[in-house]
Amino acid sequence: MYRSHTCGELTAAHINTEVTLAGWVQGVRDKGFMIYIDLRDRYGITQLYFDEEHSAKDLMKKAQKLGREFVVQITGKVIERASKNPNISTGAIEVLVSELNILNTALLPPFTIEDKTDGGDDLRMKYRYLDIRRNPVKDNLIFRHNVTQSVRNYLSNNGFIEVETPYLIKSTPEGARDFVVPSRMNEGQFYALPQSPQTFKQLLMVGGMDKYFQIVRCFRDEDLRADRQPEFTQIDCEMAFVEQEDVLDTFEGLTRHLLKEINGVDLDSFPRITYDDAMRLYGNDKPDIRFGMQFGELNNVTQHKDFNVFNSAELVVGIAVPGGNTYTRKDIDKLIDWVKRPQVGAQGMVYCRCNDDGTFKSSVDKFYDQDDLSKWADITGAKSGDLICVLSGEVNKVRSQLSALRMELAERLGLRKPNEFAPLWVVDFPLLEWDEETERYHAMHHPFTSPKPGQLELLDTKPGEVKANAYDLVLNGNEIGGGSIRIHDKATQAIMLKHLGFSDDEARAQFGFLMDAFEYGAPPHGGIAFGLDRLVSILGGQETIRDFIAFPKNNSGRDVMINAPAPIDDEQLEELSLKLNLKS
Ligand code: ASP
Repeated sequence: MYRSHTCGELTAAHINTEVTLAGWVQGVRDKGFMIYIDLRDRYGITQLYFDEEHSAKDLMKKAQKLGREFVVQITGKVIERASKNPNISTGAIEVLVSELNILNTALLPPFTIEDKTDGGDDLRMKYRYLDIRRNPVKDNLIFRHNVTQSVRNYLSNNGFIEVETPYLIKSTPEGARDFVVPSRMNEGQFYALPQSPQTFKQLLMVGGMDKYFQIVRCFRDEDLRADRQPEFTQIDCEMAFVEQEDVLDTFEGLTRHLLKEINGVDLDSFPRITYDDAMRLYGNDKPDIRFGMQFGELNNVTQHKDFNVFNSAELVVGIAVPGGNTYTRKDIDKLIDWVKRPQVGAQGMVYCRCNDDGTFKSSVDKFYDQDDLSKWADITGAKSGDLICVLSGEVNKVRSQLSALRMELAERLGLRKPNEFAPLWVVDFPLLEWDEETERYHAMHHPFTSPKPGQLELLDTKPGEVKANAYDLVLNGNEIGGGSIRIHDKATQAIMLKHLGFSDDEARAQFGFLMDAFEYGAPPHGGIAFGLDRLVSILGGQETIRDFIAFPKNNSGRDVMINAPAPIDDEQLEELSLKLNLKS
């Protein structure tokens, strides 16, 4: 038996018990005639005690030689501690050691194994196994486990069956590049790793599974943005014989269950907003609604004077910054510089102070009188003491610029509170999205999403206006889940693929299996997938998903611990028939 108890377990109730513990040496405090050692494992820290009076000389010597992170096993008697530590569960006791067994030695760790470590990001990732010994990382992994467990229980209790789908598949289009795996046995051929199990879960519905879920790794070879991982985990779900309402209901239930069980938060039914309204009011399809600062469109009240910047703009839109009238001229200039940064890209910013006496003072007083400005205040909901910030230009650009400003200001004003949860469904997404680069329409969600009833005909005339039976669940400004009601008949799927630019042959080659399946009694179905990593980090009140992944990749998609990706040797290349291809 390696241990009778864990290092987090012993209390005053155990005094005089003989115990055996095993763990890592957190630190040694050697006072010569007395030695204290903190012994650590996953469960906590227990203080070990040696002194000249009670401990044999060679035992004292052995203890003195222990280094940080040595792995030891001890046996001893639980005694009451002279100076208690109320901050830890074992703070009332210590163990007077009678036997010390060094199970393994350890090199000096490259950073301190403390809650606040001196190790930088790179170093911590290189020695992630040491990082995991630290409470913040360990606690996050346990937190993730709890969330995952809670998800499994909820779905399982609601009749969902967990089914595994293959990783070595053919491309599933979710809008990213595929990671591919060469097939040794099929020369020159490749598998793709799933961007999601989308087609398989639909086939499970054709197979009559009725309610499916899977906590599953997905792979997307995208240009890495901050806090994206090339492999990430989804809670992937699908249901048969459902309409949008059923899906929203079920997964609102799951989210509410998680918020209650994990965060102790009771929420009413989640508000819903259409995609169009989200864009109009927040400039964003994943609005953070923990705070107001809704957009007010000002075209009607600004485009009647000689101010050309506004007159020529497609959209003039503003937000009221609560208490913003306290900003000095210098503060505002800085804000203007901020919106002009290339990452935001605004040309400039007009502002209007809402004074306490009810008057207004704007940066465009030459053009707009008090009456005009009071309308700006009405429309943006500004009160005295606020500052109205106004941007103008092309609709899409201005919206995203003002949205960036809204989020930045909310952050600075402390309005994005991590322990406040404001979920929201965004519904009625457009079916298609114009892609400037390729100059054609792409499926906004994916090609299997069904248009709203009766809108199929619009595809020929006004493709950009067709709405989809697609929905996202947004939490605190993050998309945590997205899904749709699917197309379940071959003819509609064929029309859809045609509009996405697939020839008949291409459609057949890529999705023939799915279209065939639709001919064998496919039930109406729909589903959703949650991004588990993001969900866990939000529930955990933290920003970065990396902190909740045991072995994450860095921003260049590398695992710096195992040093992957890495070249493979010529022999392996040859076996995979890749060598010649590379050279030719
Ligand atoms: N497969 C979709 C995705 O990964 C989710 C869904 O439509 O269920 O975003």
